[in-house]
Amino acid sequence: RQAQYRLLRHKPAVTRDGVRIGLNMNAGLLVDLPHLAEAGAEGIGLFRTELQFMVASTMPRMNAQTQLYASVLAASGERPVTFRTLDIGGDKVLPYMRSHPEENPALGWRAIRLGLDRPALLRMQLRALIRAGAGHELRIMLPMVTEVAEIEQARALLDREVEHARRHGHELPSRILLGSMVEVPALLFQLEALMAAVDFVSVGSNDLLQYMTASDRGNTLVASRFDPISRHFLRALRAIVTAADAAGKPVTLCGEIAGRPLAALALVGIGFRSLSMSAASIGPIKAMLLALDITKLNALLDPLLAQNGAEDGIAEALRGFAADQ
Ligand code: PEP
Ligand code: MG
Repeated sequence: RQAQYRLLRHKPAVTRDGVRIGLNMNAGLLVDLPHLAEAGAEGIGLFRTELQFMVASTMPRMNAQTQLYASVLAASGERPVTFRTLDIGGDKVLPYMRSHPEENPALGWRAIRLGLDRPALLRMQLRALIRAGAGHELRIMLPMVTEVAEIEQARALLDREVEHARRHGHELPSRILLGSMVEVPALLFQLEALMAAVDFVSVGSNDLLQYMTASDRGNTLVASRFDPISRHFLRALRAIVTAADAAGKPVTLCGEIAGRPLAALALVGIGFRSLSMSAASIGPIKAMLLALDITKLNALLDPLLAQNGAEDGIAEALRGFAADQ
């Protein structure tokens, strides 16, 4: 199997009926980078910048951040990299940062909330990203966005940092794109405004499922209770793809389900044409896509998504479809 996947490394993921699917990799540390070429990923769809902060014993200074981001861009070459700004707070506490005890850390003071309330930290990170991105395309993504105004506030901080770099004579990135994670259900009801405010979006299905089903992703008693391959969740995801397509904004999904063949099948069925996953999943997902006929998949899936019975039967139907391929 592994050897078989290695043979697919240089092959683009194109379905039997000619639909191209972009397969990217999730990363967070320098040790992940060799996997880019090994797995045949087209880019880094999600770079989790908080990992550098979580493995450090003191707050990484701006130079250390700049060095890491520059190394990632250098190692990626022409492959695009999407850096997500710090997703800390809540359960991801930094030992060297004063934390406030929270009864519900997943619903707490974290990610972009912390970034906007403590702008010095977010601005330092944006400054490091801009320095590291000199001459490159720089893609920045905001975690846990709940209201579109948060993106506008972050963009104002970004504009200030670009201006600061310009004033100090630093070479700027060739282009800066600002995107948002879609992982808080409130965004599903602001999709038009969201799409107008961003250059791209990426669905964080781990958190979106957690918040949509009110089930703690880290609690084994409930984490796998609700199948993401379900009518309610797939409809939610499809609404995001539809809004992004209508606005002409690139959309991808970077949660764990992108790396699970049956779930990836469902994602392609509802319109995703780009996914980001762990490096180890790229081979198996590509093999699945190369054997796939999307027209046939849609003939099966679309009617199931349109029904309104108590049971949706989607997971079983997809299992049967995959077995027949
Ligand atoms: C997600 O929530 O799906 C996601 C990709 O981000 P993280 O797992 O880092 O919260
Ligand atoms: Mg998340």
